[in-house]
Amino acid sequence: MRRIDLREITQAVKELSIEANTIANCDLRDALTASIEKEVSPVGKAVLGQLIKNQDIAKFTNLPICQDTGFTVVFLEVGMDISFTGGIVQDAVNQGVREGYIEGNLRKSIVKDPLTSPVNTQDNTPAIVHIELVPGDKVKITLMPKGGGSENMSRIKMMKPSDGVDGVREFILKTVKTAGGNPCPPIIVGVGVGGTFDYVAFLAKKSLLRKIGERNRDPEIAAMEEKWLLEVNKLGIGPAGLGGKVTALDLFIEVFPRHIATFPVAVNIQCNAARVKTRII
Ligand code: SF4
Repeated sequence: MRRIDLREITQAVKELSIEANTIANCDLRDALTASIEKEVSPVGKAVLGQLIKNQDIAKFTNLPICQDTGFTVVFLEVGMDISFTGGIVQDAVNQGVREGYIEGNLRKSIVKDPLTSPVNTQDNTPAIVHIELVPGDKVKITLMPKGGGSENMSRIKMMKPSDGVDGVREFILKTVKTAGGNPCPPIIVGVGVGGTFDYVAFLAKKSLLRKIGERNRDPEIAAMEEKWLLEVNKLGIGPAGLGGKVTALDLFIEVFPRHIATFPVAVNIQCNAARVKTRII
């Protein structure tokens, strides 16, 4: 049994919070660069160029890629041959977020009680923490600061089983069309299908951890991802919603078995500031 002091988790989460908000991943930068070629609108091309420039400035100045530094969502894959010492895992994660957002001068966006006391917690905690037990003696930490604008345009629908695959396609296209320029396109479309009302949203969120261009392992679902991405890009929303061909950089689908009487679908929209960083301890 390997012992891990939870201070290591705190330190990693702190560093990932700053890194995720200031350094864009290569796959995102490459996808934006490639999309300039595909875009036909001169305004759209200019927007894409500005987004890349913004990422470069953020990286070299240590400033956030976007002023909205998000709700911090943390996915932990914890090896079953690990024993944590020094407290509770969730507390260690929150402490890392707290230290990272304060030291990194990142905007604090979380209010305490949404109904009775919408007062800022001043340190961007609590984080949303998803924990999964896996074989082995390592911990994989994946941190995603999720912007409010794109989260607001995300949707869930409990469809009828008879709505079928066509119903899923229609729901995705309708959600993206309704979102228009609000979620800061070019977006990434994360889709969950199956499970329960709560789990389908998790699936959609988890799909957004994939690198751009990474297809579902099931070839049939991978084909749907490619086909529906093309359809999304025919909606004409374009970069920043100013019209054009590049509305989305990718579309990911994650599935799970469903109840015979239900057909849950979730569309979690990610914005151009798609921030995901990972570390293995
Ligand atoms: S949706 Fe994304 S890019 Fe737009 S303001 Fe929010 S975090 Fe920034």
